Amino acid sequence: MIIEPGQQTNEFAAGTEERVFDGLGVSPGVAIGCSHLHDAGCVNVPEFRLAKEQVEAEKTRFTEAVAAASAQIGKLQQKARGLPASTGEELGYLLDAYQQMLKGSRLVRGVERRIGEDRLNAEAAVQQEITQIVQGFASMDDAYLSARMEDIREVGRRLVRNLTKVPYRPFSNLPKNTVILAEELTPADTALLDPANVAGFATVLGGTASHTAIMARSLGLPAVVGMAGMLTGRRGGQQVIIDGSAGKVILSPSPATVAYYRRKRAEFLRQRRQLQRLRKIPAVTLDGAEVTLQANLELPAEIDSVLASGAQGVGLLRTEFLYMNRDDLPTEDEQYVVLSTLIQRLGGRSLTIRTLDAGGDKIAPALGIVEGPNPALGLRAIRLALKRPEILETQLAAILRAGAHGPVRILIPMVTSVSELLAVRGILETVERRLKRRHIAYALPLPPVGTMIEVPGAALAADALAWHSDFFAIGTNDLTQYTLAIDRADEAVSSLYDPLHPAVLRLVQFATEAALRARIAVSVCGEVAGDPRYTALLLGLGIRDLSMAAASLPVVKQRIRSLDLVAATRRARVIMDQSDSARIAQLLDDFNGSVMDEAI
Ligand code: PEP
Ligand code: MG
Repeated sequence: MIIEPGQQTNEFAAGTEERVFDGLGVSPGVAIGCSHLHDAGCVNVPEFRLAKEQVEAEKTRFTEAVAAASAQIGKLQQKARGLPASTGEELGYLLDAYQQMLKGSRLVRGVERRIGEDRLNAEAAVQQEITQIVQGFASMDDAYLSARMEDIREVGRRLVRNLTKVPYRPFSNLPKNTVILAEELTPADTALLDPANVAGFATVLGGTASHTAIMARSLGLPAVVGMAGMLTGRRGGQQVIIDGSAGKVILSPSPATVAYYRRKRAEFLRQRRQLQRLRKIPAVTLDGAEVTLQANLELPAEIDSVLASGAQGVGLLRTEFLYMNRDDLPTEDEQYVVLSTLIQRLGGRSLTIRTLDAGGDKIAPALGIVEGPNPALGLRAIRLALKRPEILETQLAAILRAGAHGPVRILIPMVTSVSELLAVRGILETVERRLKRRHIAYALPLPPVGTMIEVPGAALAADALAWHSDFFAIGTNDLTQYTLAIDRADEAVSSLYDPLHPAVLRLVQFATEAALRARIAVSVCGEVAGDPRYTALLLGLGIRDLSMAAASLPVVKQRIRSLDLVAATRRARVIMDQSDSARIAQLLDDFNGSVMDEAI
């Protein structure tokens, strides 16, 4: 049977096992493949029975893995002592608890019993024991214990890593065309997905503007989030279709449904190829206004698609990938190598490097961030960097050194006040002096330092910030989140997440005008920059530089080439007089529709 979008919801299709689930489509395209159920707490490990004479050696192997884990945590404890009092103390308690779990606890005894009595290999014994303990906790329905479940899983993952001697790689060795189904994927998990094997994913949790969604778009993986009920009673190995454009997941589809989605996928890919032809054509409006189109980059591996998209540079390099999926911090040399390789690949196009924006939904264990009561409002991004200046110094030194190989700009995330910018400039000078003393080549003149406008306070103080900034990059993702007090990663409120809210638009307008008055460059690098629906409005507000996922670039370019800037500016003025988002959406969509009609 053929399912048109919206035809069925969470129902059995007549006469088949097929089930259709509706969610939020966050990355377009169609994936058809075999499902792999991802349990964040469960690492794929080999499982086999030991010969009797192997048992003692296996117990020794486990004891060594426990000792290694204890030493690793000991190092983290040492680092925690160097942290500011409250942070260090809280992290210290957590690490103490990890150490306790490694000392003759139920976990250790249970694993030893499984190795000895069940003759199970150590990795599988750890995995099974962890699963049993966690299930026991879950059934007690106690908030404190359920918080401890994640701690136990973390210790289990560390033990498995030490046993298998490979880092946490939950998606390695997956067959081609795997579709991941998960309760949740963190941005760090998503960074590990290999598009050569993974065709797409669907999760129960997650919002449209979450970093996981952004990552999916960058990797070009069809994805749907907010799929309540999708995992109930589910097992892996089923055929599954992800329609990231319509926000649908179809489990065990009928042959007719598969055939329908094969056609849909072919059509999607055909359109994408057609748009690719615009690659070398400039982004110019019908009345001759030129627009700069740059790409956002989340992972170095995307550089090929950035170059293929015809981007004029990278308008936002999110450097969090350097810190993800590891227990230690990247060294200056390591960062320098990654950054200078990117600069060389860009061949003279500019690279805007944002300093570490950790915190919120982007977590790096080596930073030892202890989440406060409200992580999105806590010690994150530039606040964290100024509290831990050694992290910022290392990163700035790597950026300055890499900048000797080509044009770079430095972008500061989550700025709220001038004092933060002044502090960064002070640190930059110190770092420069050190490099000079070490006789190391670095970017001269020093790269421009720009401010992310992504907090309402920063937008409202844009005049003052513009005095101390060389450029602005407007981050509409966080700007929308913070202006409307709506968590961008929470599917429960994602219907309220609205970049067309007049308050958000006024802040964008205010910041843009402040930049234009101060004669500094201004771009938009939030997700609206890559959605052709918003292009006319952003240009109408005075923006001439957009940075987006490489995959979105051709479609935005096409939109720009169909636009009359004078008409778009006029429509933007009308829109800015409105107080109701629904009316704004209608005015914008009508304008888009009429231009589309004319273009046809
Ligand atoms: C933004 O907030 O709009 C932005 C571009 O940064 P990120 O999505 O990484 O928070
Ligand atoms: Mg942001």
